[in-house]
Amino acid sequence: MTTGSTIEVTLNPKRMSADERARVMQNLGFGRVFTEHMVTIRHTAETGWEKGSLVPYAPLTLDPAASVLHYGQAIFEGFKAYRQPDGGIATFRPESNARRFATSATRLAMPPLPVERFVEASDALIRLERDWVPSGPGESLYVRPLMLATEAALGVRPSKEYLFLLFGSPSGAYFAQGVKPVSVWLCTDFVRATPGGTGAAKCAGNYAASLLAQQKAIEAGCQQVVWLDALEHRYVEEMGGMNLFFVYERGGRVTLVTPALNGALLAGITRDSILALAGELGYQVEERRFATDEWEKDVASGALTEVFACGTAAVITPVGQVKFDGGSWLIHGGEPGPVSSRIRDTLMAIQYGHAPDKHGWMHRVL
Ligand SMILES: *Cc1c(COP(=O)(O)O)cnc(C)c1O
Repeated sequence: MTTGSTIEVTLNPKRMSADERARVMQNLGFGRVFTEHMVTIRHTAETGWEKGSLVPYAPLTLDPAASVLHYGQAIFEGFKAYRQPDGGIATFRPESNARRFATSATRLAMPPLPVERFVEASDALIRLERDWVPSGPGESLYVRPLMLATEAALGVRPSKEYLFLLFGSPSGAYFAQGVKPVSVWLCTDFVRATPGGTGAAKCAGNYAASLLAQQKAIEAGCQQVVWLDALEHRYVEEMGGMNLFFVYERGGRVTLVTPALNGALLAGITRDSILALAGELGYQVEERRFATDEWEKDVASGALTEVFACGTAAVITPVGQVKFDGGSWLIHGGEPGPVSSRIRDTLMAIQYGHAPDKHGWMHRVL
């Protein structure tokens, strides 16, 4: 059996019954339940990208000398498939993720997977696993592509063999109990990314390097870390794995300020979508450097009315409180504000097919 041109299918002999699946999908959360199949595509220096396979989801066999385990050539992506009002399924901007995946690969000296192969893999998985795309409000199938270096060789150089994988994870509504702002820790002792480093690549190592700071933020009573620039610890870069927006209101005019892409930030597709929607919502946008002292001063004066983070998993997460070594301040009384709620509703209406897709972002799969 084949789907499309280059992916061969081997069905999982132990697929769940509809009843079992319904039971598993009752309490989804995020990233705990996985599809019953996955796409694999091998790349070798001799063959290039080989024919892809859709195979039963299963543990990998890796040589202990596989270079990913030692030198960390590993990248990933994340985007979502949404159930549409007519029962069909569409993914949100998968080509943008495919392009970013290729950029990440190039930064880590890995072979870029062609955009069409990436999208074909996602479409093939979703068509086979259509019953794993949930249909409740705020629910979706999170799609996780990744690539790792598999050559067994301890010399420090780019691997000559790679494995691309793609699977899905049905996920529940992120804020099932209503949107709750997070508290953030301004981190001055660790950095996420440096000029010339890998901050703009979605690579596993960036996350490994972030976990100790995340742990310290939790010890300090915060849910998330806000990363500052590596050189001065003064300019805001990101929040955990999300981009940040600062909302200004002056005489009824709303301006969204977001840190400019400087090579250390990850260029979020949600960030890009919000910048594209802002005009239609009557908001002005500024992409520039944004300092923590500006943040504190402008919240105190009342000019800065809301702060929110954005990313695929939660779409929009308001920031309610900022803590640092020496104090803290609240934003919008610690409550979600109207601008972040409106942007969230606008974006989700497009994703779930309740509003017209004027930007051509939705990729129909079924
Ligand atoms: C993935 C990611 C984001 C958000 O990107 P989206 O495309 O909007 O999901 C932001 N920052 C970091 C560090 C990320 O890894």
